Amino acid sequence: MFGETSYELFINGMWRAASDGKKLPLINPATEQVFGQVASASVSDLDEALASAECAREAWAALPAGDRGAILVKAAGILKDKIDAAAKSLSREQGKTIAEAKGEYERAVETLEWNGQLAENLSKPIPMGPGRMIVPEGIGVVAAFTPWNYPAVLNARKLAAPLAAGCPVILKGAEETPSAAVFLVQSLQEAGIPVGVVNLVFGVPAQISEHLLASTVVKVLTFTGSTGVGKQLAKLAANNLQRCVLELGGHSPVIVCEDADLAKTIPLIAEYKFECAGQSCNAPSRVLVARPLYNEFVARMTETVSKIRIGAPEDPSTEMGPMANARRVEAMERLTKDAVDRGAHVEIGGSRLDRPGFFWPPTILTDVPADSKVLKEEPFGPILTVESFDTLEEAILRANTTEYGLASYFFTSSPDITLRLVSALAAGAVSVNYLKGVSADAPNGGINQSGYGYEGGELGLRSFQNLKLINGMGSFG
Ligand code: NAD
Repeated sequence: MFGETSYELFINGMWRAASDGKKLPLINPATEQVFGQVASASVSDLDEALASAECAREAWAALPAGDRGAILVKAAGILKDKIDAAAKSLSREQGKTIAEAKGEYERAVETLEWNGQLAENLSKPIPMGPGRMIVPEGIGVVAAFTPWNYPAVLNARKLAAPLAAGCPVILKGAEETPSAAVFLVQSLQEAGIPVGVVNLVFGVPAQISEHLLASTVVKVLTFTGSTGVGKQLAKLAANNLQRCVLELGGHSPVIVCEDADLAKTIPLIAEYKFECAGQSCNAPSRVLVARPLYNEFVARMTETVSKIRIGAPEDPSTEMGPMANARRVEAMERLTKDAVDRGAHVEIGGSRLDRPGFFWPPTILTDVPADSKVLKEEPFGPILTVESFDTLEEAILRANTTEYGLASYFFTSSPDITLRLVSALAAGAVSVNYLKGVSADAPNGGINQSGYGYEGGELGLRSFQNLKLINGMGSFG
């Protein structure tokens, strides 16, 4: 027994402990104290989840799409009523503030609703001309693996689109932040999702993914996490030719052009960068500022960042909580030390806070040499590098220099520069004078080492359909 809070597996319509009784501890990142436990699935639990999902597959796919959608919309309403309790649990296990957790749950509700409302339309046959059409069909059982940074909205994305498309889901929630998956699955259960259509497991990630992807029952892998793990999973999926949707890392540039309005630019960058202690794959992490604005930008950004209130996530006055786990703080230490050893300058932050918990302050690094690790590896934390540029071509070159291609941002008041940058920046999403998380209605997908496939929007739902081409209808005489 690790503490009073306990989360179980959901297999074949039943909440239960692992068959061998194994559990993993839950740690509060703000205190480093163990406060609970989550069940850790055995191989026989996984086999039961596979059998249960396969057994539910045909009936779920055969249910009218509007009825499937109605269950999702109903679950959205049920989840909405649970937001206060769910946000509290998420904040305690992840470290994000209660306000951030509530905002995330609102996006999760919207995701369930949006996909529910779309289910019927996107399941209709698509006419192709005389005698021909495309019939969308649910592809089959989906294995979905989610991370710990935005577990409410990411679990909602991983569940909503396949369920709307007619596919059962075996969800492996993040072991460090299990409550969001539990709240979502409970909402679906209360909304009347049939037995076996959703199975929820936690456990040893590598064992779970290896076992599930070795089964031909699974037809699609959808994963959000690091590029390294994504590649390992894609190799496993290749053995059974399972379709993959891989939402992987990012290292997003922000170009601040000479004509940008710093009064608007700086608060927008600071707000999005330091949300969830910088642990977002889409967060801006490398700022490139036109030389005439550089000194003013650094001074004003440093001042803005110095005012961010760091503290216990449940304290309503806190603006940034701890990082989610000890691994992230170690990564911040390693990346900062490497940059400083190579000659970078720390404008603010730069060392772990002297208090219990995984607290790393907002950090700004300047004069960062190009070969520093922080400019190459995804920092996934509250570290922002700022560099200057002289020409737009130079900015584009440096913006596109990492192996990632998830999101790119820029600030300008020029339509000509906008057109040039929209086409030149190599990323799945490019935003001008705008920084926000992904929305339910938009396809989110990276290029290069940020992954492939789309999640969200209509394309996100299509990721879980086979498009069956029908020829010769009406050729009977
Ligand atoms: P990690 O790569 O080991 O794990 C990331 C997530 O993937 C975790 O939730 C983990 O449970 C899961 N995972 C790991 N191995 C798995 C496997 N074999 N099968 C299935 N799931 C598996 O690293 P971490 O220390 O937890 O996170 C740090 C790195 O992960 C960051 O540097 C960042 O690049 C990446 N990350 C990305 C996102 C994102 O939104 N794209 C989210 C969280 C983490």
